[in-house]
Amino acid sequence: MTVVTRFPPSPTGLMHVGNARTAIFNWLYARHNNGKFVVRIEDTDRRRHSEEAVKAIMDGLKWLNIDYDGDVISQFSRLDRHRQIAMDMIAKGQAYYCYCSAEELEEMRREAIEKGYKNFYNRMWRDADDSPIPKDIKPVVRIKAPLEGYTVINDKVQGEIKVNNDQLDDFIILRSDGSPTYMLSVVVDDYDMGITHVIRGDDHLNNTFRQKIIFDAMEWKTPEYAHLPLIHGTDGAKFSKRHGAQSIQEFRDMGYLPEALFNYLLRLGWSHGDDEIISRKDAIRWFNFKRIGKAPAKFDFKKLDSINAHYINETTPDSLIEQAKPFYKSRHNIELNDIGITRIKAGIDELKSRAKTLLQFVDDSAFYAKTLPIEYDEKAQKNLKDSDDILEEMLKYFNSHTGEFSADYIQEICKKIADEKRNGKLGKVAMPLRAALTGTTASPSIFHAAEILGKSETCNRINAVL
Ligand code: GLU
Repeated sequence: MTVVTRFPPSPTGLMHVGNARTAIFNWLYARHNNGKFVVRIEDTDRRRHSEEAVKAIMDGLKWLNIDYDGDVISQFSRLDRHRQIAMDMIAKGQAYYCYCSAEELEEMRREAIEKGYKNFYNRMWRDADDSPIPKDIKPVVRIKAPLEGYTVINDKVQGEIKVNNDQLDDFIILRSDGSPTYMLSVVVDDYDMGITHVIRGDDHLNNTFRQKIIFDAMEWKTPEYAHLPLIHGTDGAKFSKRHGAQSIQEFRDMGYLPEALFNYLLRLGWSHGDDEIISRKDAIRWFNFKRIGKAPAKFDFKKLDSINAHYINETTPDSLIEQAKPFYKSRHNIELNDIGITRIKAGIDELKSRAKTLLQFVDDSAFYAKTLPIEYDEKAQKNLKDSDDILEEMLKYFNSHTGEFSADYIQEICKKIADEKRNGKLGKVAMPLRAALTGTTASPSIFHAAEILGKSETCNRINAVL
């Protein structure tokens, strides 16, 4: 049997991390088993449908480097097939038309509340073959849910889950306007697409029992299910906006690398010993249902940061700079050119070791790519105040220097000036130099940075201040 898993997002907005995690688990399970991973867009709710949301999902998958097999299926395009199955079920005696009026349903609801019934619909049309059909009512189609016994799911994560069939109702599969309900569409699509394993959030567990009834009614083999505990915040509450970023796009904009988010989301609910860093290759090799946790996973930004820092360190300079490029523009209005890139590469080891996110990497290295005149932030301006004597002295030394313009040499000069003019306090010399060269007060080692900028650029920047 070829394993076929699926990712069936409803395109209602950006791609939520919960969705991304579901996609990752399905993708890994398929790849682990040399199976197929298919994408289906659940776009039947046309009022909420937007092409932009579909694009956001597809972009999210691409960014996370999750590929899929075959064409992307639109659920909406398959409504006729779903309708046909409802008709087949009627023909098989597994479903029936229900002609209840709004008033009758209202009355049933009232009675159910009064008597404490779990399900309100009294199944009055279930076996009403001979009843006269009301002419003015467009019927819905309801499934004949089993009346006795249990519906059992052997969930790969949760174990055996049983529900007494008296808890399940004759739910609607086709609305009075002829549109199939979600419950029916999902089952027909899962069947037609040959889905063997459904891996999804446990918020779908209640649907699963109903979907199983449809599979059984059609005498179709039910897929295996694995329901993942939902993601919570570190405070234990369901992960939501107030915990911070929610969508893949937000994480990307915060400077997280796709490999880092992939690794983090994989670890969020699945483990391989104590391994925190798991390569994609190993993930494919190791992924299984056994190590999926049963308790809600807690989204911990600190852990994500440390994983991101790891991947930043691992990434090649070219790839890192390529991924960071848009941020130089958006945050510093800098078009990165070859000079900037060469300097950033020269300082990359230290830049990498400091950065938890791409944004930090960009903020720390933007000064390399700046051209005069540069702006000085408030703190830098403070450090530049009353420092002309130091900078003038430095210029004198640098201008007359003919040897190598090395970090050691620059530091030595700064020390000399500190001894002469600032009671030996090196910081009082280094800080103005940093402010002059970077326009900020935080940067990698300033002596090394000056070496990378080179003598003439360093002198030009000092001159610009003076
Ligand atoms: N479209 C559903 C969602 O986005 C997924 C349904 C399913 O996995 O069966 O939540």
